[in-house]
Amino acid sequence: MTEYANIIIDISHEKVDRPFQYKIPDVLQGKLEAGMCVQVPFGQGNRLRQGYVVEVTDKAQFPDEKMKQVEGILTGSLPVEADAIRLAVWMRQTYGSTMIAALRTVLPVKQSVKAKEKKKIRRLFTREETTAVLGEAIRKHQGARARLLSELIHEEILPYELVVGKLNVSASTLRSLEAQGVIKVESENYYRNPVKLETAREAGLTLSKEQEAVREEVLSDYDKGIRKTYLIHGITGSGKTEVYLSLIEGMIKRKKQCIVLIPEIALTYQTLLRFYKRFGDRVSVMNSTLSAGEKYDQCQRARNGDLDVIIGPRSALFVPFPDLGLIVMDEEHEGSYKSEAMPKYHARETAQYLAKMKGASLVLGSATPSLEAYYRAKEGRYRLFTLSSRLTGGKLAPVSVVDLRKELREGNRSIFSRKLKELMEDRLSRKEQIMLFLNRRGYAGFISCRSCGHVMKCPHCDVSLSRHAGGKLVCHYCGYETRDVEKCPSCGSPYILGFKAGTQQIEQQLYQYFPGIRVLRMDGDTTRQKDSYEKILSAFSEGEADVLLGTQMIVKGHDFPNVTLVGVLAADLSLNDSDYRSGERTFQLLTQAAGRAGRGSKPGEAVIQTYRPDHYSIVRAAQQDYAAFYEEEILYREIGAYPPVGHMLAILVTSGIEQRAQGLAGKISQIAKSGEQKIQVIGPAKAFIGKINDIYRFVVYCKSGDENALTRIRDLIEKSISSMELKYETVQFDFDPMDRY
Ligand code: ADP
Ligand code: ZN
Ligand code: ZN
Repeated sequence: MTEYANIIIDISHEKVDRPFQYKIPDVLQGKLEAGMCVQVPFGQGNRLRQGYVVEVTDKAQFPDEKMKQVEGILTGSLPVEADAIRLAVWMRQTYGSTMIAALRTVLPVKQSVKAKEKKKIRRLFTREETTAVLGEAIRKHQGARARLLSELIHEEILPYELVVGKLNVSASTLRSLEAQGVIKVESENYYRNPVKLETAREAGLTLSKEQEAVREEVLSDYDKGIRKTYLIHGITGSGKTEVYLSLIEGMIKRKKQCIVLIPEIALTYQTLLRFYKRFGDRVSVMNSTLSAGEKYDQCQRARNGDLDVIIGPRSALFVPFPDLGLIVMDEEHEGSYKSEAMPKYHARETAQYLAKMKGASLVLGSATPSLEAYYRAKEGRYRLFTLSSRLTGGKLAPVSVVDLRKELREGNRSIFSRKLKELMEDRLSRKEQIMLFLNRRGYAGFISCRSCGHVMKCPHCDVSLSRHAGGKLVCHYCGYETRDVEKCPSCGSPYILGFKAGTQQIEQQLYQYFPGIRVLRMDGDTTRQKDSYEKILSAFSEGEADVLLGTQMIVKGHDFPNVTLVGVLAADLSLNDSDYRSGERTFQLLTQAAGRAGRGSKPGEAVIQTYRPDHYSIVRAAQQDYAAFYEEEILYREIGAYPPVGHMLAILVTSGIEQRAQGLAGKISQIAKSGEQKIQVIGPAKAFIGKINDIYRFVVYCKSGDENALTRIRDLIEKSISSMELKYETVQFDFDPMDRY
């Protein structure tokens, strides 16, 4: 069978638009594979250009005689781009997306942004020589010359802006001085550095026995050429970060570079500072707040060997290091490691592939490992380490569970249980701080009629509206706003009320129950602006409020030594999410929330309020017993054949026309059912949110113990839909989805 190669010409960053197809000559048949760098004739003049193979296929796009031929394979050291292409090919294959989408993901910077230039004036003459030239200038009444030269007697180098600005020296004067050899106008490109931290360097701490054991094994494995994935399980404060730092230090000594993945929300000033203190300016960050120019420059610095460490959320994986030695993934259980855009890759699996490709080690860390990671560790696929104690001496706070049903039965109708209220009063009187956490995801505070049950919904999305201060009802998906209602639009009853309490309502109640209390609220509404997240946290840390009230955002990052009470207002809300990860997510959130209390020298306490005090996620979180939680959760996954025991492929079909979406989902379900024995097909069904922004959503789930069976079925579906030439529908694949559709 003749093979053809789809080739991207020159990744010059401006255009990764599309691959071109070439014929593979007989001598090269069977020798080309994706990621290889080749020479091909291109354009009218058939000039030889460098290109990258993205796919080898037996399907010709044109007749053979119209196709140009691959000239040859370029050998020698593969440039960094070839790695990126191989990674994109793997992502496309694993997660299902177009090649272009995959390429755009691994090559995040599409334009080369002009480097910033900094100019300066350097004196080449000695002081004495300059003094002589100055004298001459004064005699000749050359004012500008004289001004510049008298400054240069004191300073060897002056910034260009100062010279042309404040000293008012013209460019022609500079040229003539330069021609005379007195000065030199120098310019250098400098990289935009997103981090402006001036800090003294600090050496690492002496590691504890447990920490040292991890460091020792990972580095000696590395030196022996053994590459593995390691999982460090340790509660917050058990010294994981200190281990990462010592591993990175070891890698830098070996002249290797490191990628540190941290969920964006946890990428705090405190964390960064720790890395800078240790490694100085050979550390940089990559995250969504950087400008295109800043991002580009960080990639250039990495390429040129000017960086040892990059820190950032999942996209930091694609920073092109020539000699990657280590990838660290902190808080590996975090949902934000899964991309929401196509290709819907998971940073853990992608890091694993990248590490293998580059010969790097991978270290995962978490206080509450994902079921995936812990399962693999138990199976022996990952090497598991446990850090068992807090190194700063602080004890885990005792946690009590309060049954909200009982509160209600005994006449307490407020959001705060009697126990929580009592403890809050105590803390307020002692001027200690409190964190209140509302476990709620997605939308909250939906408005319904107590008489007829009518729910206020967005006309464009299949979700309910939330009540906001200022008399508005808002859709959190599309931004639709409408005036609040006083009467039920369906039956006219005045009892149309918010059902679940949102953070705003709780804030109001705090003022009501605790007069004079100072509250900082943190949720999607108060953190819309850049920096507002950091501002709220630092205000709280400076003691500007008694209570920090918020959604899951507040349970991450930052240590507050003065917080001695954490209250979880409704722990089970996230259990109602009705997807297979809700138990895991609840356990993680509660464990993290409880861990916020008593981080300083004063002992702390946590209260979990719930309607389901017997649920194992809540019980085990209160006991802070991960191992016991895992045993119960994995049993549930085994019974349902859910990941990590089995695998799942979600296929989301969307269209502006409901019947079309539904029809195509039906066809896809048929294809899936006919294709493979080993697959269980569920659906088609209307997605959990059946409509967003007037686009209808249907979903088909395929489950299988065999991951490859799912890949095969996806290929089959892709083939069939590509022949349908869809105009009105889109199809998205999501392998092992994190959320329900
Ligand atoms: P984690 O990343 O698991 O939350 P950290 O590495 O941040 O843990 O450590 C928690 C605290 O313990 C930090 O204040 C850190 O300075 C301190 N610490 C870590 N390792 C040691 C050590 N070997 N000796 C003394 N203190 C340590
Ligand atoms: Zn009504
Ligand atoms: Zn909407």
